[in-house]
This record gives sequence, structure tokens and C-alpha cells, in this order.
Amino acid sequence: MDGLEVPACERCPELVESRSRIVNGTGPEDADVLFVGEGPGAQEDSQGEPFVGRSGSVLDDQLRTVGLDRDTVRITNCVRCRPPENRDPNKTELANCRGYLEAEIDMLDPDVVVTLGKVPTEHLLGRSVAVTKEAGTVEEVRINDTPRRVLICVHPAATLYDRSQSSTFEETIQTAADLAGVSGAATDGSGGQSRLGEF
Ligand code: URA
Repeated sequence: MDGLEVPACERCPELVESRSRIVNGTGPEDADVLFVGEGPGAQEDSQGEPFVGRSGSVLDDQLRTVGLDRDTVRITNCVRCRPPENRDPNKTELANCRGYLEAEIDMLDPDVVVTLGKVPTEHLLGRSVAVTKEAGTVEEVRINDTPRRVLICVHPAATLYDRSQSSTFEETIQTAADLAGVSGAATDGSGGQSRLGEF
């Protein structure tokens, strides 16, 4: 690992086969908020950046709404290579990539780690989680021997197929901003939920 970047890795044969590239985290190395997703999808694999597809638009819009611009936060994934047919990463793959995620969390030392969806939430909390029920709650957990504040969030894609998840998602991102001490919500109407209507 070179800084926060993994330059090369061949630990997961199936992912080496299915990826076009390793998708490292993005954002400042001293960000207060770290978002952790599951793994790259097709868009992320092709562009080399986490959350740049439809889920990324949902995330970006809500970040802007609460005054947490995408450029000010760090965004990464549990696994850095796209699984075949967008399947969930398996236990071995999650374990293979765990050290990279822990190193990223340790170097960043964020105020809060926001887990986007079931896979990252269960991976970091080490238990099974009903994410829709527990979204918005903060749990302190030791990650690589350091206590970390983890905020459980539904995956942004969940809001695309179940609109009732939108308010849960929006409120949780607001909580992330509050925990990071950010109060400047966008007031110019440029961000926000209005664009969710496009999906
Ligand atoms: N979903 C994820 O979990 N991660 C991404 O980077 C994109 C979509």
C-alpha cells in the first residue's frame, strides 16, 4: 500500500479476472467522514473511482444538500475490485481486502465511518445487521484495535428501488454531517432531492 492507494494486488483470482482495474478510495487523506461501500460496480470499474454511477449521484446529491461536498469526504469500498456479475464479495474476498481498508481508516482517522448498505455494515460491525431498521444509529467498534464511530446507513441504491428509504438515507447523511461538525447545508437549490426524481 502506497499512502492510501493499493497499486497492485492479485489475492482474489475471480476478481482479478473480472476487474479492469483496482478502484481505490477517493477524497482528502485527512477527511473527517469516510463512506464505505461494498465494492465497485461497472461504472466504478470503468472510471476507477468509487460511487460514480447512479448510486454515486444519489450520494452526491445528498452530500451537497447537507453541506458535505463530495470533494471534502473520503469514499471507499470493502473490496477494491469489481466482482463478476455484480455479485456480493464473498468472505474470502472481504478478508483479503480487509487490511487495505483498515490501513485507510487508520491513516485517515475520521470522526465517523459511514457504512453504505448491508455488506460494509456487517463487515465492520462483525455481526448481522438489519440495515433498514438500524440505519441512523451510531455504534462504537474496534477496527484494527482502535475504537471507531460507525454510522449505519442504507445503500444509496436502495432509495432508487424503494422511495420510502429516501428519508432514512437523507436523515443518516445529515447525521454524518452533524457528527463531523458541518452545518452549512446548501441553500442555492443546486443540490438535493429534486434530482432523485430523474431515476
Ligand atoms: N456501490 C458500492 O457499494 N460501491 C460503489 O463504489 C458503487 C456502488
